[in-house]
Amino acid sequence: LGWRMGRRYVLGIESTAHTFAVAIVDDKLNVISDVRDVVRSGETLGIDPKLTAEHHANVAPQVLEKALNEAGMDITDIDAVAYSMGPGLGPALRIGATVARAIAHKFKKPLYPVHHGIGHIELTSTLLGFKDPLVVIVSGGHTSILSFNLGRWRTYGETLDITLGNLMDMFARKIGIPFPGGPKIEEIARKGRKYIEMPYGIKGNNMVYSGLLTYAIQLIGRTSVEDIAYSLQETAFTVLVEATERALTQVSKKEIGLTGGVASNDRLYNMMCSMAREHGVKVGRLEKKYNSDNGVQIAVVGMLYMKSGYAPVPVEEAVIKQRIRVEEVEIPWR
Ligand code: ATP
Repeated sequence: LGWRMGRRYVLGIESTAHTFAVAIVDDKLNVISDVRDVVRSGETLGIDPKLTAEHHANVAPQVLEKALNEAGMDITDIDAVAYSMGPGLGPALRIGATVARAIAHKFKKPLYPVHHGIGHIELTSTLLGFKDPLVVIVSGGHTSILSFNLGRWRTYGETLDITLGNLMDMFARKIGIPFPGGPKIEEIARKGRKYIEMPYGIKGNNMVYSGLLTYAIQLIGRTSVEDIAYSLQETAFTVLVEATERALTQVSKKEIGLTGGVASNDRLYNMMCSMAREHGVKVGRLEKKYNSDNGVQIAVVGMLYMKSGYAPVPVEEAVIKQRIRVEEVEIPWR
């Protein structure tokens, strides 16, 4: 155990949606272990909250054990436990929170509830080494432009209806592609040649995507699916990049951190880079595995809480909040 002397460790549990994950990080934010188990959507194409929770409950013991084994640690070696408190699917969130509370109670460990979006934000800025970025979260749960101001991450633009991830997944479902549809749509869009004009929804720094989805669905069968996917991506991403540019001029940051599952899309990344270059701003994103849900982002935020001396939450107050917004969360470490 010599190598472990003086080090502190946080175990993070993620269960907001499709992924049940456990990770351990040390106080230098090194990843010691990172284990995930993603629910298969099967024939239904979408995410069923009840089936997802059943999946998480079934895999939780193995995922936890594997994370400890990978780290060569015993649960008693952990200094604190963090879990994603929301936003997300209630039944799925409850599994992660229950496991976290059980560990905290039985082994007398400090417990930190973590906002899932802040997990995306802090992991991205930490690993990219961005000190004060504008953050763009694009996933199934979020499509938001955020900046840190007066002690909290604040929203400077967001979708007014569906998220960018939902847009991709819902269109994909209509052409028979199961969840998650985004990666496959990216592939199909690469073969598109003709740009079809589509409804372009932006209000201030906010995006509107449902009209675009309806329009794209109505085109199915009337023109090539490659051209629809291509035009859908071009339109949806242009709206996001334009909203980001508007936000950027308001907060004047020098870095943009792109995160969430859709950040893995190369076309989106390149469009964001072209816009940022004009403003002398740097864009960064993490490798794919850290864009989608994982336990590392939760453990990292737990470690940031612990290192900043923030009071842990008593087990009986460690709840889940399905609709919690980033603004509701105090950030003691920035
Ligand atoms: P959140 O993290 O906000 O809770 P989430 O649970 O949906 O949302 P993620 O794993 O971050 O979590 O994102 C999944 C989404 O990312 C899905 O909608 C998926 O289709 C989309 N996605 C993944 N890869 C790509 C890609 N290459 N292009 C477009 N979309 C993608």
